[in-house]
Amino acid sequence: MCNCIDMLTAKGLAHWEPVASVSANLSLVPKKPGVYVLRASNMGQYYGDKFQRRYLTEITQLHRQKRHLFKKFGLTWIPDSNLEFIKRRLDRLGRIEHDIEGSCSILYIGSSKNLRQRLEQLFCKEDRHTIEHPVRALLLNGWQIECAWKPTPNYREEEKQLKIAFKIEHSGALPPLVNR
Ligand SMILES: [Zn+2]
Repeated sequence: MCNCIDMLTAKGLAHWEPVASVSANLSLVPKKPGVYVLRASNMGQYYGDKFQRRYLTEITQLHRQKRHLFKKFGLTWIPDSNLEFIKRRLDRLGRIEHDIEGSCSILYIGSSKNLRQRLEQLFCKEDRHTIEHPVRALLLNGWQIECAWKPTPNYREEEKQLKIAFKIEHSGALPPLVNR
């Protein structure tokens, strides 16, 4: 059992907001540089490949509908995101230790020069954030995800320090959705 939540609280990341409420009230998030962290407040059941396929099925259906609509216009719709790209992004889900007693709830640590813009890209836009597909796949599977943020001018340095503190708790490993 790690001490990540206490570690984050001590570093000023103490208030956790459900991602649904962040996406509905982006004005909660300041337009300032800072760090942000995602955690699972409730881990849903994880089905490995089957679970990823479920998300890909939804995306494929959505693409089909868009293509159909464009056909009505006499036009050809080309998706921004291709399925191979999304599949590669979803691979990060395989790193989540979901079924181990007391496994860490922290999913991601990031930073931005504009916190509101970055969280808007993650929760409210398409093809703008590296972890949007893994996060949406978790939500689709009933996971509850929360976000904490802290404005700071030294956002890059603070992100580095948070990742170092996380690695100390986890024998050198980074959070599962962080690129390695
Ligand atoms: Zn941890």
